[in-house]
Amino acid sequence: MIIVLMGIQGCGKGTQAKLLSKHYSWQHINLGGMFRKAIANKSKIGKEIKHYIDAGKLVADEIVYETIENTLGKKKKGFLFDGFPRTLAQAHYLVENHVVNKVIYLDLDDDTARARMGARRVCSNCNKDYNILSKPPKVEGKCDVCQHDLIRRTDDYLEGINKRIHLFHEQTKPLYDFFKQRDLLFVVDANQEIEVINKQIMEAIDLIEE
Ligand SMILES: [Zn+2]
Repeated sequence: MIIVLMGIQGCGKGTQAKLLSKHYSWQHINLGGMFRKAIANKSKIGKEIKHYIDAGKLVADEIVYETIENTLGKKKKGFLFDGFPRTLAQAHYLVENHVVNKVIYLDLDDDTARARMGARRVCSNCNKDYNILSKPPKVEGKCDVCQHDLIRRTDDYLEGINKRIHLFHEQTKPLYDFFKQRDLLFVVDANQEIEVINKQIMEAIDLIEE
């Protein structure tokens, strides 16, 4: 089983991916997280990835595919993609090389996405994620785990946010049509409670016949 989660940043796909992978015992493939880990490890591939991200560009397809294939090689019941595919070329690659069962599109308007992204914070010490709107720390500005200061990632300021929204519409939105034409798309209103969204997604997944 391969499920793809799509949507603008701030739509809650990371949260849904965690809930779904836990419920179905699937592997959650979070490309952004894998990239951040590679950068933190300062590996050869991590340095290449950092180069693209610092320039505000999408990571090159060869690097993306290598990361994907390494993960799909593991024997697992199912895979949940979060942050892939991001371009039409990547979408073609995925459907031509693997069976995709469903694409869940978490639909969120730009203004809400912008507000949610601007509310993101991360611990400067242990990297734990917070959101002052939806997942605030117990003490304002301090990490619950290690009490260090919470900061904004450099790309969580308005300029970076607007850049990402623009990039999303330009490069990711055409995927909507691509998957819709292939009858794989399931659209969920992402401006609802997490539990409601989760229930709607699981109902769609449980209808899939393998
Ligand atoms: Zn911390």
